[in-house]
Amino acid sequence: IKPVVALIGRPNVGKSTLFNQLTKSRQALVADLAGLTRDRQYGDARYENKSFIVIDTGGIGEMDDGSGSIDDYMATQSYTAIHEADIVVFVVDARAGLIGADSEIAQFLHGLGKPVFLVANKMDGVHEASSAEFFALGFGEPFAMAASHGKGVANLLEALTADM
Ligand code: GDP
Ligand code: MG
Repeated sequence: IKPVVALIGRPNVGKSTLFNQLTKSRQALVADLAGLTRDRQYGDARYENKSFIVIDTGGIGEMDDGSGSIDDYMATQSYTAIHEADIVVFVVDARAGLIGADSEIAQFLHGLGKPVFLVANKMDGVHEASSAEFFALGFGEPFAMAASHGKGVANLLEALTADM
């Protein structure tokens, strides 16, 4: 059975754009989806001789008043996708910069013990140093990306599939 990679992050950071880049619109075959629910978008990603399932999610919402637990901010879909996943790709928006909701999501992901690959998207037209602040999320140096231009996608694929 193929490894499962979930794309997680706030709405509008570019998860679906990255999903399209990773899958080139290849639908996951039903046979590959054993044990996964069908109500999210699954695609088939390939890199060299490696293949894995990607899950797109609607995104984890903004904090409303800061009083609730992380559960309050997470769409059920994202939650379920995270639990289905072997690997999480956590997408943040380099144009928006680091915001509180990113830190909340990071904190939750740290508690999971799954491998997390941090992607700083929308790096087109911003200074290269813009991704540096995301180091504070605790997942190391982010993968710099401009998903809508296909930039940085191969680099991420290389890293994601290294142990597959
Ligand atoms: P999602 O809500 O996380 O799935 O985000 P989407 O993939 O729908 O993208 C949200 C918006 O950001 C869209 O208007 C995309 O065209 C735009 N976007 C996605 N990736 C990039 C990028 O690398 N650079 C720029 N400038 N815009 C991007
Ligand atoms: Mg989307």
